[in-house]
Amino acid sequence: MTIQIEATGCLLCHETAGDEPSFSGLVRRCLSCGFHWTAAGGGGAAQPDLFDGSYYHDYFARAGQWRYEAARRLRWLRSAVHPASLLEAGSAGGYFLEAAQQAGITATGAELSEVCVNYARDQLNVSARHGCFETLAPTAATEAVCAFHVLEHVDDPRGFLTTARRALTAGGWLALEVPNIASAAAHRWGGSWPHLQPGCHRWHFSPQSLTRLVEECGFHVERCDTVSSRYYMRPRRWLSPAGVSMLLADWAACGSPRTTHPRLGDHIRLLARLPKGPVIR
Ligand SMILES: [Zn+2]
Repeated sequence: MTIQIEATGCLLCHETAGDEPSFSGLVRRCLSCGFHWTAAGGGGAAQPDLFDGSYYHDYFARAGQWRYEAARRLRWLRSAVHPASLLEAGSAGGYFLEAAQQAGITATGAELSEVCVNYARDQLNVSARHGCFETLAPTAATEAVCAFHVLEHVDDPRGFLTTARRALTAGGWLALEVPNIASAAAHRWGGSWPHLQPGCHRWHFSPQSLTRLVEECGFHVERCDTVSSRYYMRPRRWLSPAGVSMLLADWAACGSPRTTHPRLGDHIRLLARLPKGPVIR
């Protein structure tokens, strides 16, 4: 499947004025607004094919890593809001749902991979539904929708965000994480940046473009910052050769050893909220 951007204009600004190659030609960049998407020929397999289980072939051997990431993401979410319920789009093997459930949150997931859904239900004893978030029949409105490394994969990001809006209660929260095309590492690595993944990532966001898209879909962005890949590195690997190398590279690029940065880290974290009044469906 290829992306027919020329016919409909840029996803973000809708302009048809043109685009230019970027990142060794793997990505196109809108000349009007600077938004990036995977060039025709990338964007690889349609989602159900991509998530048939092969995508997760080494996933289940890394439970400790996924639990570490889930704990960090939940702590970040709860630094802003303590939802009684949440819905995770793209819940993978269920580790974030597990962390949320252990924190007393009623958590449900939607996941394209049946292998992952079965694992989440059978091994982690969490609630997950098999299917596409955008097309699964809605359940009761939830106080938070979370999607970590999902939006860059979907066919229609605006449709995804509209589904999230419809799933939320008034004043509900949206928590997103995506790779940051404007990161120091993306600039340094160019077409070899590990998080580019043109075979499966269709859209490439910066803090600016993600904020614009989310706000145009009816949310108010409360927080948007970035974290380096070291943010999700477990402490025992901090002094490994890879850990030290990443530390030095981040320090040189960002001027600080911190793993959070307003805009230059590898991953964008965004928290947005719906208005507290009646929800526009
Ligand atoms: Zn544009």
